[in-house]
Amino acid sequence: MNTISSGTAPKAKKSLGQNFLQDDNICRRIAALLDTTDADRIIEIGPGPGALTRFLQASPHSLLILLEKDTWWASDRQRVADCRTQTVLTDALAFDWRRISPPYPWIIAGNLPYNVASPLIWDITAQATGLVRAVFMVQKEVGLRLCAQPGTKQYGALSAWVQSHVSPTLEFIVRPGAFSPQPKVDSAVLSFTPLPVAQRPTEPDSLKRLLSLCFQQRRKQLGGIFRRAALPDWEDILRALRIEPTLRPEALSPVTFNKMAVSFRAALTNHKKKS
Ligand code: SAM
Repeated sequence: MNTISSGTAPKAKKSLGQNFLQDDNICRRIAALLDTTDADRIIEIGPGPGALTRFLQASPHSLLILLEKDTWWASDRQRVADCRTQTVLTDALAFDWRRISPPYPWIIAGNLPYNVASPLIWDITAQATGLVRAVFMVQKEVGLRLCAQPGTKQYGALSAWVQSHVSPTLEFIVRPGAFSPQPKVDSAVLSFTPLPVAQRPTEPDSLKRLLSLCFQQRRKQLGGIFRRAALPDWEDILRALRIEPTLRPEALSPVTFNKMAVSFRAALTNHKKKS
């Protein structure tokens, strides 16, 4: 970053989900949930004018990295950065989250732009192997989907994928009046704790394809979905896992989806070897 901004702030950009926090108490609560130590490396996604950044800078940490897509706000953050803060002008969606790896303990936070929150959380929770904790503010409806349990109408591919990697908790709801400009809907602050490596998906690509196949047809029965997709050995797989073919995808837990993903991966490999 070597462009230095100053002067009047530009009008908030809807395309970048710019609803800026005006309430220090909410920023304080987010920073407290992060519960950082001196060793932690923190990443903030979308710092904007820095309402949350100031609380992160005051929290224990070894390094604070700010990822901001808006040129003006990135250079504004750079202008006031201290020696432990690095500002990166980038699209967080294009960031390689596999770089967030051990041995450093990484904490990720952000009041996320509404339009990119789901794909960002999808990638971060699966790819950032060095993640110790994350706290994100998202649209309330997305927050409910992230935490949703099987059998509920909010439960879907996002819930099953994210809960296969981390344990999400809905911490508190934030009303539109806390932002400027005010969004039309409530927001939710969620914390995420990574699952132990042994509990994470062993066949993530297979899981991704399975979730996509199943939740594109969430009102259909599993047997019908797998028969139409011509998946090999699907009847044997369902029988071995004691899953009724008449169930709908929304009835299955993340653990069951993971077991099915492993079985389908093995069946497809066998099938290819034979043909
Ligand atoms: N953290 C500030 C706050 O709480 O007031 C700003 C939050 S605002 C909801 C979202 C921020 O993310 C904006 O600063 C916006 O420019 C930035 N942003 C939007 N899309 C982004 C992306 N793809 N990558 C990085 N930053 C992005």
